[in-house]
Amino acid sequence: MKYAIVNDHIINREEAKVDIEDRGYQFGDGVYEVIRVYNGKMFTVKEHMERFVRSAESIGIKIPYASENITKMLEDLIEKDNLKLGIVYMQITRGAAPRNHAFPAGDVVPVITAYTKEMPIPEANLQSGVKTILTEDIRWLRCDIKSLNLLGNILAKQKAAEQGCYEAIQHRGQDVTEGSSSNVYIVKNGTVITHESNNLILKGITKDVILKVCAENEIPVEERTFSLEELAQADEVFLSSTTSEVTPIVVIDEKKVGTGSPGPITKKLQALFKQEIENQCGII
Ligand SMILES: *Cc1c(COP(=O)(O)O)cnc(C)c1O
Repeated sequence: MKYAIVNDHIINREEAKVDIEDRGYQFGDGVYEVIRVYNGKMFTVKEHMERFVRSAESIGIKIPYASENITKMLEDLIEKDNLKLGIVYMQITRGAAPRNHAFPAGDVVPVITAYTKEMPIPEANLQSGVKTILTEDIRWLRCDIKSLNLLGNILAKQKAAEQGCYEAIQHRGQDVTEGSSSNVYIVKNGTVITHESNNLILKGITKDVILKVCAENEIPVEERTFSLEELAQADEVFLSSTTSEVTPIVVIDEKKVGTGSPGPITKKLQALFKQEIENQCGII
């Protein structure tokens, strides 16, 4: 795509440059968001902006622009790039300053960057489901922050990729937490179970939409920690994220989940999720 946002300007993407002492570049000192675009419209943009502010605040970065103004800029960027189906990636770092772990004193200015990318709906995965592996969750204890520091997540995803799998399901001891870039759910006897939103997982915007449609459609939900044993005994397993939507998990560590094909609750949630998209962004 041709354009990028740097702070409060839309510029040509080739002209968007990072200072070698930007703290995002040196320390991963910043936070980010990925927002889905359908029909040229951002889905759940308000929720993403709220989380962006919350993540930034939790590491002591004050975003120097109002959320409404950033949203307008993102809309302009999408229009200039003529993006219909894809994502917006946006991040903020603490800014550029001589290297020192402690926050720089005084007037360092945070750096916001954003760009768009075309991305199709992952129809094959949504239809057939994906394979996954299990891996110990080695991340820090503030996984609720959508931090630029993603080493734990990257290593987990790479391990999955090396085994021809789409995602790594992470666990702390016997407790399942989440995927490397997705939330994980099991279905048992018609109840959807997913890890409570605490410091050990990232509270997905997609997760919030799923919990909302469950409530509206009388699908019982338990937000609680579940074990590897419960995962192994589940009737259905699925994951969710902005780009993966509601993706069935049909294999975990080479073992079939349930019957080995996407289950009825997962399919129902896919249909309800699609309806939410269409309510906001029009028919897809
Ligand atoms: C972004 C992310 C998710 C999914 O969040 P969405 O808002 O639904 O895209 C889940 N887990 C991790 C670790 C993430 O970074």
